[in-house]
Amino acid sequence: MKITDLKCALIGKNPVVRIVTDEGISGYGEAEQFKPYLKPWVLQFRESLIGEDPTDVERCMLKIRQRGSFKPYGAPISIIEHALWDIAGKAAGVPVYKLLGGKVRDQVRTYNGSIRRPMGEWTPEAMAENCRWMKSLPEGFDIVKQGIAFHSPMKKLDRFFYGQAAQSPFHGQMDQGALTERGLALLVDCVAAMKEVLGDDVGLALDCGPGWMPADALRFARAVEPYNLMWLEDMLTGDYVPYVNADVYRDLTHSTSTPIHTGEQIYLRQNFKDLIESHAVNVVGPDPADVGGIAELKWIAEYAYLHGILMAPHGTGNGVLGLAALIQVCATLPANFIAFEYPTGHDPWWYEIVEGLPNPIVKNSMIDVIERPGMGVDLIPEAAAQYLAPEDAGFFD
Ligand SMILES: [Mg+2]
Repeated sequence: MKITDLKCALIGKNPVVRIVTDEGISGYGEAEQFKPYLKPWVLQFRESLIGEDPTDVERCMLKIRQRGSFKPYGAPISIIEHALWDIAGKAAGVPVYKLLGGKVRDQVRTYNGSIRRPMGEWTPEAMAENCRWMKSLPEGFDIVKQGIAFHSPMKKLDRFFYGQAAQSPFHGQMDQGALTERGLALLVDCVAAMKEVLGDDVGLALDCGPGWMPADALRFARAVEPYNLMWLEDMLTGDYVPYVNADVYRDLTHSTSTPIHTGEQIYLRQNFKDLIESHAVNVVGPDPADVGGIAELKWIAEYAYLHGILMAPHGTGNGVLGLAALIQVCATLPANFIAFEYPTGHDPWWYEIVEGLPNPIVKNSMIDVIERPGMGVDLIPEAAAQYLAPEDAGFFD
């Protein structure tokens, strides 16, 4: 089998790659809705891949992997990898998990992820109410995650920290600094109020930053030890920060019993090496659509497991094809897998242009592993074509 074309189009808000072969099989991969600018980044690899056998996934990846980097520059490489696995699975007539070593579980756990409701105000009462809503969702999530501190508009509150939050929609480098005593007290009160609602039925994880100074991160992590949080995510670095600072994380992690999590922005296994080998965090959270692909994520999960570190993959905006990739790889992960962040279709019509998803998708926080060949969820070209931009009209040709 040979690759004859590599295409990329926006479907709704999500960039989607299509790899075309000479045997009539196509493979798809989808990136986050937050990265609508990816198309030229994907297409730069077209010439490198045409003529290669897509079922030799690793050989194809060796040609392009060096051209990626930390988020968002790992996404084009990663979604090409998903499309290659999709083809390899379809060609072999098996779900992709079989090619990654086989599944070790028939259902995978997920947490609320992109199912979230904007907060009007940032008070303990409002955060408790938000948790009450998340607890009541029909998906029956047994873990929910809430954004707080620098990972939320809370940073714009008066005297929250000794700095001024950037007004841009991005988490900017201005959005960091020492917390005020008032800010720290508010955060601890919010945790208490949220756990009051969730009790021990539903685990609470917090997406926190990045932006904390290490001394505040430690004071907060210690203050919330009685609440048995699932994890504190990206306090020091993370999200779009193009470095890790494993040694600073290590000091924090080794000084508190509250689990510390990071890794959604990190590209490739090599950049998890210090974090894992020095036990600098308790939980790692690579995104299969940023880290270099699903096989890359599987490798990191196995290496983390060897070191007693847990795995909770990121995936907020990855859409329904990205969901399929998460399901396939998480079915194969060792016992350190906790749950992945649940992505939903950005527009409701996404569920009408794909086939293969269970209905309902999530029951009691779990998703049945999809048993169809390839990634298990496929675009229906006749249904999806109407959502292509005019310049992408030939995407399914
Ligand atoms: Mg996050």
